Amino acid sequence: MDYVKLINCMRCGMCLSHCPTYKETFLETASPRGRVALMRKLSEGELEASERLLEYLSLCLDCQACASACPCGVNAGEMVAEFKCEQKDGKELSFMEELILRKLLPHPDRLEAAIKPMRVYQQTGLQKVVRKLGMLKMFPKPLERMEGLLPELPGQPLRQAIHEVTPAAGAERGTVGFFLGCVMSLVFSEASRATVRLLSELGYRVVTPKDQKCCGAPNVLAADRQGLLDAARFNVDLFSRHDVDFIVTDCGGCGSELKKYGHHLEGDDGAAAFSGKVRDISQLLALHVDDLKGKLQPLPLKVTYHDPCHIAHCQGIRMEPRQLLKMVPDLDFRELAEADACCGSAGTYNIEKPEMSDRVLRRKVENIKATGAEVLVTSNPGCLLQLKKALSEEVSPIRVMHLTEVLARSLAGER
Ligand code: SF4
Ligand code: SF4
Repeated sequence: MDYVKLINCMRCGMCLSHCPTYKETFLETASPRGRVALMRKLSEGELEASERLLEYLSLCLDCQACASACPCGVNAGEMVAEFKCEQKDGKELSFMEELILRKLLPHPDRLEAAIKPMRVYQQTGLQKVVRKLGMLKMFPKPLERMEGLLPELPGQPLRQAIHEVTPAAGAERGTVGFFLGCVMSLVFSEASRATVRLLSELGYRVVTPKDQKCCGAPNVLAADRQGLLDAARFNVDLFSRHDVDFIVTDCGGCGSELKKYGHHLEGDDGAAAFSGKVRDISQLLALHVDDLKGKLQPLPLKVTYHDPCHIAHCQGIRMEPRQLLKMVPDLDFRELAEADACCGSAGTYNIEKPEMSDRVLRRKVENIKATGAEVLVTSNPGCLLQLKKALSEEVSPIRVMHLTEVLARSLAGER
């Protein structure tokens, strides 16, 4: 860890009220300032890497809200992730990590095959029976939580269904490469279908390379640097074979990682060019507000927006999604209190740290309910999974939609 980063913290405390784990515990050790201090003491040799100390650090969601708030540019979340990487350096991956990160994620065909049993489990009605009888309580807690998060799966992953080239509807203004995230393709295929439709309607020819692989974000979570670099090299090489003006994604987590390829593969001009072309879908759509304005049809819905951490804190995108939603005629946009606070999903955090994840989520749900919205819009698969489950369990369920689903619906005049 770069020692200069550790001493940049001047202990002003401006990050405290933005940190979800501090807001829940009021413990200095669960704050960005406290985490930086712990890592500093460790690197100075005044503290040892005890189990307890590592537990304090592992409670960090890596939401990076602290980075948005810090006047000194200290990013405690990123530093904790870096620290975990260093701790793991040289150590072998566990059996499960090896299976997921090496055998499944880099191979979309295998990933799609692995999810098939889940589809059968849902389509045969077995899921309903299992849930009704409370049978999941007999399984280990992490498995029970994972099953609970699973929404209804589409009949086919979008990667299999989509054409490699979707022509522009009308006059062509350019070509975009579409980076189709794993979870978006497997679980939220309707949202990504809507993304492609919007791009095509705006005059873009959309190229979706079928061989693309996971962006590498799960490797970062598991502190697997080698896996991340392999994924980055592969995707940079794949997209370099297509002449595209932009590389667009509708997955906040993917976008955040793809924009860092240039940094991860320092000195590789291709990687820098790749990252320079990456845009979150909201950024690209916001370039064409005048074209969109004439096409959007009324959608009389009360809507609020949750900023995914990977979009607001990691990519600095806050204005565009709001601007786009407010353009929809008859849509009643209601601002959400603490809109850019983490929902508690944070990769696999909601499985690994269920207690803190639930506390953070409860606060988010209460804020959403207070808006009186009928629909919660967000643009990251982790947030979609976490909030869909939580809001469907409310007495008055609130629907959760991806930004592009709302816009595509308005474009098509579907109420
Ligand atoms: S991390 Fe930044 S905001 Fe927080 S105490 Fe240190 S300098 Fe202040
Ligand atoms: S990344 Fe999030 S949870 Fe971690 S210290 Fe920063 S604000 Fe707190």
